[in-house]
Amino acid sequence: MKGKLYSVFTGTCPKCNEGRVFIYRNPYNLKHIGKMNRRCDKCGQDFLPEPGFYFGAGYVSYALGVAIAVTISVAMSPWIPFFKNFELYATVIIGTILILTPALFRASRLGWLNFFFKYDPHAIEKHQESLKEHQQNI
Ligand SMILES: [Zn+2]
Repeated sequence: MKGKLYSVFTGTCPKCNEGRVFIYRNPYNLKHIGKMNRRCDKCGQDFLPEPGFYFGAGYVSYALGVAIAVTISVAMSPWIPFFKNFELYATVIIGTILILTPALFRASRLGWLNFFFKYDPHAIEKHQESLKEHQQNI
């Protein structure tokens, strides 16, 4: 099933769901974590539509962090009382978020990108046709 979730979980282009957004697949390869392709090599989608575009990904990152904290708290609460073990909750939540930071960084950028561009099953064909037209006009 292609679409926004597929794009976020596989790191693929929001428009065609095939081209890779990040140059290196592994988000834990920290040296290259933020290196992105400028455009989709399959459909031509621009991955940097305007300067500073990814500042907005901070909102997605915040939302994901809150969702993780709430999920952990709800999962722990039947066994460990929250108010008596606040330090334990904080340690587990902060530790989990720290471990997931590289994955969350990428998920935030992909989520932000998917917020603005939607899946088009014919994106690659359209791109190929426009390339052909462009070559004929030269
Ligand atoms: Zn694409």
